[in-house]
Amino acid sequence: MDKIIIAVDGFSSSGKSTMARRLASAIGYRYIDSGAMYRAVTLYAIRENIASVADGTLDSARLEAALPTINIDFAPGPDGQRTLLNGEDVEEEIRSMAVSSMVSPVAALPAVRHALTEMQRRMGSTRGIVMDGRDIGTTVFPDAEMKVFVNASAETRARRRFLELAAKKQPASYEDVLANVVHRDTIDTTRAESPLRQAPDAVVLDNGDMTIEEQDAWMLDLFNRITSHR
Ligand code: C5P
Repeated sequence: MDKIIIAVDGFSSSGKSTMARRLASAIGYRYIDSGAMYRAVTLYAIRENIASVADGTLDSARLEAALPTINIDFAPGPDGQRTLLNGEDVEEEIRSMAVSSMVSPVAALPAVRHALTEMQRRMGSTRGIVMDGRDIGTTVFPDAEMKVFVNASAETRARRRFLELAAKKQPASYEDVLANVVHRDTIDTTRAESPLRQAPDAVVLDNGDMTIEEQDAWMLDLFNRITSHR
């Protein structure tokens, strides 16, 4: 059977990465976290003083000039995939609140989106991938055979993110996490360049009341239905 491309889009902390990763592992596809790529570019910008966490400023011209020198890759790790920024493992650092606070403005820059979209299309050229993000079904792979749009309330998503950060010993207050989730939703849905939108042919899933096992079963069932017609 020919391998397909699977796009999983949705709001921040909607659980789409978990769903995408687990489906990829169940069906033997490659998983790509496109949000990690935007986060890695943001970490680079913070380290190089191109983006300031303190005052929220961003030097877009300098970041655009630096883009050709930024290489992002993924490597397998004991607990899943690790994100590499110019060869350095930055998997933990890209999940920090500092990076979260600057990632949406960075991701709104057209030059950044074009560079990462190119990289993502190259990664998908062999097909057999599950990629999660905001614009995978609309912009990166508009022809993806399977598209899922994941939704859940901002409060549910903030609660999940808060627990995730606490488990990783990166404490933050629930109020700060909720504010960050709402802030990113606003920037992600209102930016001019490929805003977060549900693709018309995406299947919507509100997973607010679902267990991980129920989500796994739902994804696998949709995959089986789509591939059985091919
Ligand atoms: O998925 P995650 O929440 O880690 O993504 C971090 C940020 O990267 C999002 O808030 C969004 O601003 C940006 N992003 C994007 N397009 C994607 C994936 C992520 O703009 N395909």
